[in-house]
Amino acid sequence: MRGLREIDEEQAEALRRKRLSRPNPPEEWQIVEAPNLRIIDNDLWDAVQTRKKAYGGVHKRMARRPEHMVSGLVRCGCYDASFTVKSKDQLGCAAHRDKGTCNNNRTVRVADLEHRIIEGIKRQFQCTEAITGGERSDRSRQSPA
Ligand SMILES: [Zn+2]
Repeated sequence: MRGLREIDEEQAEALRRKRLSRPNPPEEWQIVEAPNLRIIDNDLWDAVQTRKKAYGGVHKRMARRPEHMVSGLVRCGCYDASFTVKSKDQLGCAAHRDKGTCNNNRTVRVADLEHRIIEGIKRQFQCTEAITGGERSDRSRQSPA
């Protein structure tokens, strides 16, 4: 049988079970202190927990953070409707999708849009650096009084 071996159903089930990870139920967990694995010291941890309690947990603004950098900022060009999440990572015109009042059926990948925005910002900063660098070199050319 060219490298294959026959196994019965019991052996097959044992192999299947071996591959599956079955975590123990929480009541069977053994919890031990592991101070060597701490990434912050206990005093800081306690201070943060105290402050979190005092302010009632996570700030509302932080709890309702938009999912994407561009959430709520992208508008459709034709009828001024918002570009909203159409699928997991695509934005499309809300008027086209929800009302059918817009014929713009184009979509844009969120990652592509974010990349383009970041590249645009980088270009703006490079322009600003070039301008301020020019001013500096103009000043340095002037002879000191
Ligand atoms: Zn539209």
